[in-house]
Amino acid sequence: MARDPRYDVLFEPVRIGPVTAKNRFYQVPHCNGMGHVLPRSHAAMRGMKAEGGWAVVCTEECEIHPSGDVAPFPEARLWNDDDIPALALMCEAVHAHGALAGCELVHNGPSCSNKYSREVPIGPSHQPVNGYAPAQARAMDKADIRAYRRWHRDAAIRAKKAGFDVVYCYAGHDLSLPMHFLQKRRNDRTDEYGGSLENRVRLFREIIEDAKEAVGDRCAVAVRFAVDELLGPLGINSETEGREVVEMLAELPDLWDVNLSAWVNDSIPSRFAPEGFQEDYVAFVKTLTTKPVVGVGRFTSPDTMVSMIRRGVLDMIGAARPSIADPFLPKKIEEGRLEDIRECIGCNICVSGDFTCTPIRCTQNPTMGEEWRKGWHPEIVPPKASDDAVLVVGAGPAGLEAARALGQRGYEVHLAEAGDELGGRVTREARLPGLAEWGRVRDWRVQQLAKLANVTVYRDSRLDAAQVREFGFPRVVVATGATWRRDGVGRAHALPVPGFDGPNVFTPDDIMAGAMPAGPVVVFDDDYYYLGGVIAEKLRRDGLAVAIVTPSDVVSPWTENMLEMQRIQRRLLDLEIELQVKRTLAAFRGDHVELACVYTGRRSAIPCASVVTLTGRLPEEALYRDLLADEAALRAAGITSVTAIGDAHAPSTIAAAVYAGHRAARELDAAEDDLCRAEVPFRRELPLGAAALTP
Ligand code: ADP
Ligand code: SF4
Repeated sequence: MARDPRYDVLFEPVRIGPVTAKNRFYQVPHCNGMGHVLPRSHAAMRGMKAEGGWAVVCTEECEIHPSGDVAPFPEARLWNDDDIPALALMCEAVHAHGALAGCELVHNGPSCSNKYSREVPIGPSHQPVNGYAPAQARAMDKADIRAYRRWHRDAAIRAKKAGFDVVYCYAGHDLSLPMHFLQKRRNDRTDEYGGSLENRVRLFREIIEDAKEAVGDRCAVAVRFAVDELLGPLGINSETEGREVVEMLAELPDLWDVNLSAWVNDSIPSRFAPEGFQEDYVAFVKTLTTKPVVGVGRFTSPDTMVSMIRRGVLDMIGAARPSIADPFLPKKIEEGRLEDIRECIGCNICVSGDFTCTPIRCTQNPTMGEEWRKGWHPEIVPPKASDDAVLVVGAGPAGLEAARALGQRGYEVHLAEAGDELGGRVTREARLPGLAEWGRVRDWRVQQLAKLANVTVYRDSRLDAAQVREFGFPRVVVATGATWRRDGVGRAHALPVPGFDGPNVFTPDDIMAGAMPAGPVVVFDDDYYYLGGVIAEKLRRDGLAVAIVTPSDVVSPWTENMLEMQRIQRRLLDLEIELQVKRTLAAFRGDHVELACVYTGRRSAIPCASVVTLTGRLPEEALYRDLLADEAALRAAGITSVTAIGDAHAPSTIAAAVYAGHRAARELDAAEDDLCRAEVPFRRELPLGAAALTP
C-alpha cells in the first residue's frame, strides 16, 4: 500500500549537526531494565526499533563514572573503555538498518547513592541523596567540577568510539548534575557556578562545549532539557528559567530534546494525560532556536504528528512508549498500513521493568524485551508446523492474542467467546473512568483478526467440555479468564472475612457488570494495583460516599512502578474519598465494617451500607479441568493438546495475558529441542561463560 501524501512530511530527512536523520521519527532515551547488565538483549531491542523505521535510536541513561552509579537500576554504562564493546553491539544493530544511534550520557550526582561503587556521592551543594538511602552528597569543589567535565568529555569520546552518531548532554528528570546545578533548591553555591541563572547554567554550557570540541566533528551533540518541573517558581519553569536557559544556549547544541521533569511528569499514564500533553510547555522552544527540536507526548496518531510539525511545535517526533508498543510504527505509516499500528495504551507497565530492575515488557507488544532471549520479532512469526486446527476458548486479551498469532502463523483457528463482546476484562475495564485507551488492546487484535481468512470468531458461544469435544479440533487453548473472589481471601486474609458471605458485598466484576451498591461504600483494596482506586473513583463519581480501606501504607502501592501512585492519591483525595491506610478489613456487620491496624491490631469501625472487595482472583478453570478429566473422551474426539493460558491459568496483568497468548501461539508444535521447551525457556546472558567457572 502506498503512503498517504499527507504524511510525507514525516519522512523528510533532518540534519542534526554533522549527521542526518533519514526521517523525523526519533526514539528518545528510555529505560528498559537491561542496560549494561544484558547488553545483547539491549542491542537487539534497539536494533528492532531501527528495523521498524526510527531514524534515531537512543540508549537510556548512560552512566559516565562510578561516582554516578545508579545501581541497582541497570542502565547503560561508559565508565571506561571496557564498557565500549557492549554499546558497540547496540550501534551495530542500529546502523544495520540505516538509523543513527544516540547515547544519553549522564552523571546523576545527588540523585544516586552509588550502592555498587561505594563512591561518595557528589552534588552542587551538601544534600541528602534521593530516596530513602541514609546518605548525603558532598558539595563539589573546583577540582571535582574539573574532574566531572573530564569524565563527561572522556565518555563522549568513548561513545564516539563505540559508534554513536549522537551524544547527549543531559539536564532532565531531576536527575543529572547539570540539572542539579540549575535548580535553585539544590544549588546554594556562592562561586561562579551558583547564584544567578547565568552562573547556574555554566556547567551545562561547559559540558556541551566540551562535547562539541571532543566529538563534534563526527557526532551531533544533543541536549535533553526538562523545560518545566511542574513545581511553579520552586523549580525550572517554562515561563521563566526554563525559557531563559533555552535562550542562553539556543544555538549551542545540535539538537534540543525537550520535555517535562520529573519522570512522573514526562511519562504520564493515559489515565491522567492525553496524547500531546507536553505541547503547551515545550512549544516555545522552536521560537528560540534554529536547531531541530524533539519532543514527546505518547504520539501514536500520524495526524497529530503531522500537526506538530506543520504548526511548528516540533521538528522530530520523539517517542519512548509508542516505539515500545510498536517498534514498526514509522514503517507502518510509510507503507500506508495505519490500521496495523499497535497503539500504546499508556498503562506504563513498560516503566515497571526499570523500577523492578528486570527486562522491559509491554502490554501491547508481547515481544518487547524478548528480541534476543527468545528471538521474537514483533512482526514476524514462524509459519505453522502442522495442519492441525486450533480452538481458542475465550476472547479476552490472552485468547485474542493467541488466536491472532496462531492465525498469523497460518493455522486454521476458531475463536469462541461466551459473550456478545470481544475483549474480556479489557472491554470491561476500559469502561471505567480514565481507562478508555485500554480498549486498544482489544481493538488492534480484533482488527488484525478481521484480516485473517483462516480465523473464525464465534460470539455468544459459551462452550462446555462436551461442545469442545464435539468441535473435534485437535488443539484446544483455554483462555476463559478469572473472577474476583467474594469471600475476602487474598493477601491479608487466609480465611474468609466474616460478613462477606452476606448481602451487599460486591466484587469488581459486579461493579463492571453494572451493579450499583448502596452508599456509603467501603472499597477493600488488598490487590494494591490500579483497580481499587479506579472502582472507588467510579463509585464516587456515581454520587456515593466512598472510603478505601487498604493494609498498605498508601493506596495502590504497586502503581509506583507505573509512575502513577502520586497522581492516584491526589485524585482520590480531590474526590474526597476517605483513605484508610495500614488497616485491614476484619469484618462486615451490615451497617459498618470493623478495621484492624496492621501494626498494632487496634480495632476501629466505619459506617457503611456495602463493601466492594478486591482481594484474590480465581481462574475460570472448570472447562480446562473438565476436558482434562476425561482423557479417553479427548482421544476419541481427536484432541491432542489442551492448554490453559492467561488468567485461566493464573490471574495476572493484562500484559501477562497477552504474553501468554503470544507464547502459546509461538510454542504450538515447537520442536522438543526448541528453546521454549528447554530447561530454561530462553537464552541467558551469563556473567561468566561456562569455561570461566573452571578454576
Ligand atoms: P484473559 O485476561 O486471560 O484473556 P479475560 O477474563 O479477559 O481473561 O477473558 C476471558 C474471556 O473468556 C471472557 O471474555 C469470557 O467471557 C470468556 N469465556 C469464559 N468462559 C468461557 C467459555 N466456557 N466459553 C467461551 N468463552 C468463555
Ligand atoms: Fe504503552 Fe503500556 Fe506498552 Fe508502555 S507497556 S509502551 S504504556 S502499552
